[in-house]
Amino acid sequence: MSIKDNLKNIKSRIPENVTLVAVSKTKPVSDLMEAYNTGQRIFGENKIQEMADKHAEMPKDIEWHMIGHVQRNKVKYMAEFVSLIHGVDSFKLLREIDKQAKNHNRTIDCLLQIKIAEEDSKFGMSVSDASALLQSNEFSELKNIKVVGLMGMATFTDNMNQVEKEFKFLNNTFSELKNTNPELKIKSMGMSGDYQLAIACGSTMVRVGSSIFGVRNYNN
Ligand SMILES: *Cc1c(COP(=O)(O)O)cnc(C)c1O
Repeated sequence: MSIKDNLKNIKSRIPENVTLVAVSKTKPVSDLMEAYNTGQRIFGENKIQEMADKHAEMPKDIEWHMIGHVQRNKVKYMAEFVSLIHGVDSFKLLREIDKQAKNHNRTIDCLLQIKIAEEDSKFGMSVSDASALLQSNEFSELKNIKVVGLMGMATFTDNMNQVEKEFKFLNNTFSELKNTNPELKIKSMGMSGDYQLAIACGSTMVRVGSSIFGVRNYNN
């Protein structure tokens, strides 16, 4: 199946209120352009340098989402153009994003990454840390960032009961935090293997890579 057919197929399976982020990491610009030419305008990358290179080469009406772990010293390379940063997991990082956004006279939308997986390897904040951050004075002083939602990565497993439990946990966390922070709108959860389950559990933004572009080859 072509990228065009894959996209069409996936779009037919997600409701209109759910945003599709086409995860294009490791893929060449020619593949991204194929998706672009079918109308896709939101792309997700997990390396800042790679995203910046693609941004420079591609049409300027694309929304670039940073979905990977972000190192503070690299925020400056995307501050000018990034649309949404999914993996914010500390106040220090948020403060750096705010500083770099200010340098470019803009406001950058961010999602707080919540740790929902049972396995240790995943990044993310605890619910209590996220809640404390959102209610802190330091946070209210950051004028060039906006926290517009939450992101979660489920455990890498075939056990869909486990994954469902983790998605529901993010959904409940969102409802809880939204009570004090009504500006939260986005729930970013679900990938190629589980986006339909994620949507059933309340996801409003799915990050789909290999089901659109095919399997990734990390060697080239
Ligand atoms: C790579 C990646 C995805 C997409 O994964 P697929 O299984 O290829 O759909 C989604 N989210 C994050 C954070 C990723 O790094």
